[in-house]
Amino acid sequence: MNLRTHKTVTDRRKALERELAVDLKNIGHFSLDETMASSRNCENMIGVAQIPMGIAGPLKIRFQPKEYYVPLATTEGALVASVNRGCKAIAESGGALVHVERVGASRGPVFRVSGLDQGRQVMQWVAAHEKDLYVLASAVSSHISLLSVETQMVGKNVFVRFAFDTSDAMGMNMVTIATTRISQTIEKETGAVLVAAAGNIDSDKKPSWISLYEGRGRKVWAEAVISREVVAGVLKTTPEQIAEVGLRKTLIGSAVAGLLGHNNHAANVIAAVYIATGQDGAHVVEGSLTMTTAEVDEDKNLYVSVYVPAVLVGTVGGGTGLATQAEALRIMGVDGGGKGEHADAFAGIVGAAVLAGEVSLLASLATNTLACAHQVLARGGK
Ligand code: NAP
Repeated sequence: MNLRTHKTVTDRRKALERELAVDLKNIGHFSLDETMASSRNCENMIGVAQIPMGIAGPLKIRFQPKEYYVPLATTEGALVASVNRGCKAIAESGGALVHVERVGASRGPVFRVSGLDQGRQVMQWVAAHEKDLYVLASAVSSHISLLSVETQMVGKNVFVRFAFDTSDAMGMNMVTIATTRISQTIEKETGAVLVAAAGNIDSDKKPSWISLYEGRGRKVWAEAVISREVVAGVLKTTPEQIAEVGLRKTLIGSAVAGLLGHNNHAANVIAAVYIATGQDGAHVVEGSLTMTTAEVDEDKNLYVSVYVPAVLVGTVGGGTGLATQAEALRIMGVDGGGKGEHADAFAGIVGAAVLAGEVSLLASLATNTLACAHQVLARGGK
């Protein structure tokens, strides 16, 4: 499907509706359910902030029966075109290979203790009662289960980092409720004083080494081998030129600047997908921990990969129930809830879309066409 042949937004939407056999009546209209939004999503609501939504694709993921169209909400001209070009290069090379691992949404309370002795007692109590804490968490919802518990002591502070599987919900409300209940039990049983249910060891909505290493929500890996011919035909450059940008900018430049994530614009793609689909926009900061690699392989083709350590997405709950956002999820066929497989599939699409964005930007930099693309697409050619 070539959406560019259609002149108007309505025509493009209709073409997409025909292609995917879906009804997109809520995209592009003021369709928000005000009662729902102001009771669940936004206090003091006075209206909506409209953001244009575009589509990139088809995005091909290997071993998946269908191709995906990815909704991107953005005001940055050239972003959708860039991801689209990356999707094309990946599709013409057989698709991206994607792996998704559920590591759980973390919450980490901080307790005040009298000193090291009491701190050790609290940590020992937590370790000895993991099964009881699991039962407490499961009572909050049938869709939550405690995956892991880690403790850390610093002076008169004990931090406990819980990670929960939250099925198809992003889960931060559920895990905060569960953590609070568990923390109250720890207080009662150990005498430690709960100072904050969120003690920053979870690093929710903050970039951190612990999230880069251990991950949050879902860890996603995506890779593609893009043939020399496709690099020349679609990306207008060579594997060697892209690999050099990957080395000197993505790796060395990031190290010199002290960046936590070594990537090119992962946050750009993640922000646009999250906003389009009703995710919590603040989790983009964790998406920016992405590590990107680009190298020339033994066959002289381009090998590119991304590791996105913290993909916090849901297909139910939060903002996903709003009409437009729900439709955006439906475009990808990941709407609704099950046992976590919808959000797994969605996280995989996020990873592959980030890869597409990385490939395209690396190529723009290699050919020095970044400024030109923005001039044409973001300034109407001026
Ligand atoms: P939520 O809408 O509060 O809860 C998800 C709901 O979905 C649960 O009530 C669960 O039901 C239900 N559900 C139905 N089917 C499900 C399935 N298959 N898998 C999982 N859940 C299913 O949303 P949340 O995901 O927990 O939290 C997301 C929200 O948290 C976002 O709006 C985000 O902005 C916000 N947030 C909160 C905090 C915080 O500290 N509280 C921090 C960051 C973000 P049952 O319980 O009935 O089983």
